[in-house]
Amino acid sequence: MALKLPIYMDHAATTPTDARVVEAMLPYFTERFGNPGSRNHSFGWDAENAVDAAREQVATLIGANEKEIVFTSGSTESNNLAIKGAAEMYEKAPAGRTGRGHIITAQHEHKAVLDPCKRLAKDGFDVTFLEPPRDGVIRSEQVKAAMREDTILVSIMWANNEIGTINEVPEIGALCHERGIIFHTDATQWVGKMPTNVERDNIDLLSLSGHKIYGPKGVGALFVRRRKPRVRLVAAIDGGGQERGMRSGTLNVPGIVGLGKACEIAMREMERDGERLLRLRRKLEQSITSQLDTCQVNGHAERRLPQIANISFGFVEGESLMMACKEIAVSSGSACTSASLEPSYVLKSLGIGDDLAHSSLRFSLGRWTTEEQVDYAIQKVVGAVKKLRELSPLYDMHREGIDLSKIEWAGH
Ligand SMILES: *Cc1c(COP(=O)(O)O)cnc(C)c1O
Repeated sequence: MALKLPIYMDHAATTPTDARVVEAMLPYFTERFGNPGSRNHSFGWDAENAVDAAREQVATLIGANEKEIVFTSGSTESNNLAIKGAAEMYEKAPAGRTGRGHIITAQHEHKAVLDPCKRLAKDGFDVTFLEPPRDGVIRSEQVKAAMREDTILVSIMWANNEIGTINEVPEIGALCHERGIIFHTDATQWVGKMPTNVERDNIDLLSLSGHKIYGPKGVGALFVRRRKPRVRLVAAIDGGGQERGMRSGTLNVPGIVGLGKACEIAMREMERDGERLLRLRRKLEQSITSQLDTCQVNGHAERRLPQIANISFGFVEGESLMMACKEIAVSSGSACTSASLEPSYVLKSLGIGDDLAHSSLRFSLGRWTTEEQVDYAIQKVVGAVKKLRELSPLYDMHREGIDLSKIEWAGH
């Protein structure tokens, strides 16, 4: 069968909704449309039963109790609720000092963690943004060294969305628990791909999102630990008191049913998917790096998710490379911020220079990625890089052994 183009290799941005998930959701738009808050008739009970079942499915995937799941609109909201809600609940002025308490996070977190932390910093909290090491992995030692008397919250993502690196989350959680510090993890890229158990892994607050795990967009969840310790949060949205007062608003029943179904499928299939994707990702990385000089895979060699490969191609612009292989949907190491092209702050935080960051592509594979697609991508990317380099005077100079870092350019 002919290969269908374009090929989607951007599953870290979003995933297609699994047909089994769509099928489970459909009745809840039409004949089963009730409001789970309607306690006095069967339409309401039916919707409530569906939400309860989904709550159980989400809880099972992460080893939680269903009472510990709060449904939200996605990971951005879950992160905001967790970080701002915990900071406001547990704020404390350090002895002899002013300020509302200390928070630890890292520079290569998702914006949905960084921006709530920056907001809190404006509002009087003290925030430490840890600089990741070159391999991208935050280790518990680094977190420990940053902890203070007045540290109230640590937020470290489980796996990074740009480079796929896996932080020392269970170890960081243990450290927090020893000291009575609340531990939040943005597990958006991790959950549903890798085994998760909030008890074993010492998590107090965990964010997850439907559309990153073959569920629908606009729905997610926050795990909020109920015992040892019982975590309390100040709500961000007040109103009807749904979700035990932590998140008011009529529940998105079809979305929640879809999220539950996506979790149930992930529970059953993640191991098989993960093994297959790891093999394909390794093939992609190895074939590309063996056929091209001056290119590198970013992030720790082993501590990485099976499905994400981030590769820098020296002497090639990521954007030009993407244009040269339009049949493959990937993302570049550049972010469009207000009309200018900024190198990725994640890659920069690892100490990767602007040039190399601009020359990076993220390939993220998914449940329906085939070997044939990977083979096509390898051949396409290698060909495009070679062609672009033929046009690059800098690459010529590099090949001739001229050290480009030592050249003094005219006009500067
Ligand atoms: C996608 C993503 C988010 C945002 O999730 P939404 O559900 O789209 O709000 C947050 N954190 C990480 C790590 C992500 O990959």
